[in-house]
Amino acid sequence: MTGIDIPVPAAGAGTTRIDDLPVREELRGKSPYGAPQLDVPVRLNTNENPYPLPEPLVERIAERVREVARNLNRYPDRDAVELRTALADYLNATGPDSAPELGAAHVWAANGSNEVIQQLLQTFGGPGRTALGFEPSYSMHSLIARGTGTAWVSGPRADDFTLDPETAVRAIAEHRPDVVFVTTPNNPTGNAVPAETVLALYEAAQRAKPSMVIVDEAYVEFSHGTSLLPLLAGRPHLVLSRTMSKAFGAAGLRLGYLAADPAVVDAVQLVRLPYHLSAVTQATALAALEHTDTLLKYVEQLKAERDRLVAELRTIGYEVTESDANFVQFGRFPEPGGARAAWRQILTRGVLVRDNGVPGWLRVSAGTPQENDAFLDAVRDLKKEQEQHG
Ligand SMILES: *Cc1c(COP(=O)(O)O)cnc(C)c1O
Repeated sequence: MTGIDIPVPAAGAGTTRIDDLPVREELRGKSPYGAPQLDVPVRLNTNENPYPLPEPLVERIAERVREVARNLNRYPDRDAVELRTALADYLNATGPDSAPELGAAHVWAANGSNEVIQQLLQTFGGPGRTALGFEPSYSMHSLIARGTGTAWVSGPRADDFTLDPETAVRAIAEHRPDVVFVTTPNNPTGNAVPAETVLALYEAAQRAKPSMVIVDEAYVEFSHGTSLLPLLAGRPHLVLSRTMSKAFGAAGLRLGYLAADPAVVDAVQLVRLPYHLSAVTQATALAALEHTDTLLKYVEQLKAERDRLVAELRTIGYEVTESDANFVQFGRFPEPGGARAAWRQILTRGVLVRDNGVPGWLRVSAGTPQENDAFLDAVRDLKKEQEQHG
């Protein structure tokens, strides 16, 4: 490439900002999802499982990936049938007896449950349509709504962050959303939504539209109760969204999935990109599913640590929201600015927790016993300082 004189326009070289580009109106001035990824000794801010994968599983992943590596000249199985079958088997094996028997036809998988949710909103939301979620909740629901051109309505929660069925049903009747999100256990607050409430919301959503109800069960394995799988029978507008990022300790794998009526699985295939799940991802997820028992053995330990965090935080003098997840919401810090200041003070002690922007509250993920001890020491100090300074 010589001899071609490419002119460089004087204005703007290296100084272009997002808003200088012709981006869509609804993206102007907005920020991307951003849990800080800071390099500190104790990171308890993104609800990951703190334990690395066990060595035999690492070996099995290497083996399965080596097998598919030879065929990477070919596109992967577009429909990921073997993986969806293995996920259905996992749901059948771990779900309550009253749950319907699921097969590959009821299950769809994608790159994290975020992609599952994106595909659902591309299918059932979009321009001219509305999604409703009860906030504070998982911020990606509204962000993905925005990205898919779906209008967003923030539904109400009670002061203790529970869902009051009557108020929630009224919000659905009023806004008649095309998609309703229910996160249980909820992130960042930690509390679960009872099955009767989910049913009431489903029925309200059917009377109003009828609309799709997406239940985000990312943390269900940590719950005191059982999953909502039994509700799937006879409810074709209900979708349960799951992930391998939390209980399975495989956030880096990027594998989420849904369970629903087979018609829903057919519908999302209208919008999924062809070959969206790489052969490497499928092979890795299949290897992980062969080791479900070892992966899930940490869940019991993390639940015990979660309960310990709840108890100790209360002993120290913090308020804590009931948690069915692998994290705990604690407070309250005086607003404005109290939660942010506490977040910073905890960080100076080498512990990263999460400020989700819920006024007066912070969230801590259950880590290893040592990490949790470091966190508890930090917040014990913090409490003492607060008491000294009135
Ligand atoms: C972490 C989380 C997810 C997981 O997203 P992935 O894309 O599967 O990693 C989904 N929903 C909620 C509520 C979460 O907190």
